[in-house]
Amino acid sequence: MGQRLSCATQQREDKALFLAVASGELELVEAMVDEDPSLFEQTTGYDNLSPLHVAAANGRIQVLSMLLDRSCKVDVLNRQKQTPLMLAVMHGKTGCAEKLIHAGANILMFDSIRRRTCLHYAAYYGHTDCLKAILSAAHSTPVADSWGFARFVNIRDGNGATPLHLAARHRQSECLHALLDNGALVCASTGGYGYPGSTPLHMAARGGSLDCVRMLLSWGADRLQLDSSGKIPFTVALKRKYKACAALLDPSSAAPLVWPSPLKFISELNQEAKALLEKALLEANREREKTLLKEADMPPSPLHSESEDDNISSETSDVELCCICFDQVCTIEVRPCGHQMCAHCTLALCCHKKPDPATACPSGPVCPFCRGAIVQLLVAKINKRSVTEVESSPMKPRRSRKSNFSEGSSSFKGLSAMGSFGRIAGRNSGKITDEKQWGVS
Ligand SMILES: [Zn+2]
Ligand SMILES: [Zn+2]
Repeated sequence: MGQRLSCATQQREDKALFLAVASGELELVEAMVDEDPSLFEQTTGYDNLSPLHVAAANGRIQVLSMLLDRSCKVDVLNRQKQTPLMLAVMHGKTGCAEKLIHAGANILMFDSIRRRTCLHYAAYYGHTDCLKAILSAAHSTPVADSWGFARFVNIRDGNGATPLHLAARHRQSECLHALLDNGALVCASTGGYGYPGSTPLHMAARGGSLDCVRMLLSWGADRLQLDSSGKIPFTVALKRKYKACAALLDPSSAAPLVWPSPLKFISELNQEAKALLEKALLEANREREKTLLKEADMPPSPLHSESEDDNISSETSDVELCCICFDQVCTIEVRPCGHQMCAHCTLALCCHKKPDPATACPSGPVCPFCRGAIVQLLVAKINKRSVTEVESSPMKPRRSRKSNFSEGSSSFKGLSAMGSFGRIAGRNSGKITDEKQWGVS
């Protein structure tokens, strides 16, 4: 009888503790654990949540810090073997996630439901800030040494799904991008040991997110890969009546420009230059997409109209035009030679279009002006040119008209025939950033 009574009292105390933790009442929680330090060890009824779990899930960073300061175990597990970090990430509590990582939380823990890690949860719920915090931790924690960063990014859960699969399935395009940017394998399959499985593109087709489909395609996802039931992503999207996605996934439609794989690309690309190239890629694919969606009788996605006026080639009259297309402003500078061209042309040179292997660069890309290997791409400094310079250089027309880049536009034609660059541009017509050439000091 007495035992049962104390048990009931204990339960009431526990409940009060967890309520105080959940609502972030720091002083109250402190007073309670000061009085009875054993409360640290208490867990909620069925789920076995510790106070740290509850603080993390509710984003109570002060309580969480206090608990950690009083040496609460940072990787304490609940019934499903989930850590407080996993719960913080699930609920998008970035501050708490960072605090836990800082306190030494292990990012390489697997839960017992589907053997998922905190990275899986971040991708699943689309909490990009949490995802980035985990990835940056993965660069420096022992995980990087023991597992390797690339392996961690592509970590598989119990069903063989990588975080990229989950982001694609649950329409989390921002997380999808962050993962691709950090080396997630675009053609990863959920099937193990040579068995066919689903790719992230299959998952995106199932989720019906046009953003995810578009992004995966531009990162080189294969439209022809079969899943375990022998379906290509196109069939998956059709079955679920995602018409726009299906239009892009249709293997008979024109292939998009593809973001170059790291191996085929320049080793050094600064963030700014990368952003410019990515934007150019998006624009090029946008044109193609417009046609496809029109054919599929779909209204263009909001992205189209939104970025309509946001072209790289803005109406600037006093800037240098690209010597390849004579259309866009030179925004990218090639190192080490110093030649400049626009982002679109850079992209066309460094990208390959699937499935035509003839246009792929077999080795690293070369500068179209001097044929030297491209080691690095930088954002070009846009210099205003004086009138005399323009007169002395009839090869470089200046135009202020605004033009949209498209795969079929005349400016783009012949880009795959790289030999013609030399004839059009000639060796000396490539812009050299060495200012001596222009007689400017
Ligand atoms: Zn150009
Ligand atoms: Zn060059």
